[in-house]
Amino acid sequence: MSGFVFNEKPIEIARGDGPYLYGEDDTEYLDMGASYACVPLGHGHEAVQSAVSDQLADLTYVQASYPVAVRTRLYELLAEVAPGDIDKVWLCNSGTEANEAALKFARSATGNSKIVATMQGFHGRTMGSLATTWKDEYKEPYEPLIGDVEFVPYDDADAMAEAVDEETAAVIVEPIQGEGGINPASAAFLSRTREATAEAGAAMIVDEVQTGLGRTGDLWAIESTDVVPDMVTSAKGLANGLPAGATLCRDWIAEDHGSHASTFSGGPVVASAAEATVSTLVEAGVPAHAEKVGAYLREQLQSELGDSIREVRGEGLMIGIEVRRGANRCLRDLALNHGILALPSGRTVVRLLPPLTINESEADRVVEAMSEVVG
Ligand SMILES: *Cc1c(COP(=O)(O)O)cnc(C)c1O
Repeated sequence: MSGFVFNEKPIEIARGDGPYLYGEDDTEYLDMGASYACVPLGHGHEAVQSAVSDQLADLTYVQASYPVAVRTRLYELLAEVAPGDIDKVWLCNSGTEANEAALKFARSATGNSKIVATMQGFHGRTMGSLATTWKDEYKEPYEPLIGDVEFVPYDDADAMAEAVDEETAAVIVEPIQGEGGINPASAAFLSRTREATAEAGAAMIVDEVQTGLGRTGDLWAIESTDVVPDMVTSAKGLANGLPAGATLCRDWIAEDHGSHASTFSGGPVVASAAEATVSTLVEAGVPAHAEKVGAYLREQLQSELGDSIREVRGEGLMIGIEVRRGANRCLRDLALNHGILALPSGRTVVRLLPPLTINESEADRVVEAMSEVVG
């Protein structure tokens, strides 16, 4: 995880502004990881800050069984922007909870238990989501996890079609694997997955916790294909830094979702932050900006770094740079010598998930720093 990067020289962060973080000693850092994609609009975004302060003054919390205007508006907004005819919304506090709910809803709605997940996939760390996460080192100390999970190779349409059968409750899949190394799936794989699940009566869950909210150039990465899944999960940047998650479902799932519930589901303060975040993303055309700056950044990385790296992968501002030596060494060098914070993705990939509001000159700074780091 990221902690190791700073083992030798801890950086204590005092405040943030746009794509920048500032240390206690006022050192400026360009936050190219957006602290794990959690601040798509940048740090301290005005519209989000003021929505949250207004809501704090009016009402911090009320139990979820009473309607509150801000939560009702958020339900409507998410239903409106969800892919295809998805229009039911379950709110929670994190990505793992959003996936946990999706898995429970699928088991309840189908009456089946089998879950098909993908190798190198990551869906969270609570017991249910963890069982669908690939890496053994995350799972082994906690076993037995929930059973009946089968893994297929990512982007292998035949293997997926073969694994999905009458006993299957759900397939859970990322459109681009984040934690697994920034691996994009082909549109053909996603549509075969859609066909196979539809045929078997199983739910297709698309985990957009990392890819969603404009990062890949569309509000949802799955929108670059013609696939409409049964559920889409979201979290990370959903409330621009406050803890929020959502499971967006089709009617047939919502109608038979069982008895799942959570005390803080759609709490007013977090709902106000999510409403401000999502409406700003949409109204300001942030996904299109991410696509443009992302394409520029990937092109520049490719042309400037050339043979000193293995590959640049990704879509929009979800970028993986496969380096020739360890990613950790690069990340430490970037942070300490260039004032740029990025993330690892496995041992050899430097991962960039910046605020979607960065501009081309900030992108240039990253390219320059990376050239020195890998040169
Ligand atoms: C981060 C992540 C999760 C887990 O989200 P948490 O909020 O950390 O529980 C799930 N799926 C994907 C694709 C992620 O990137």
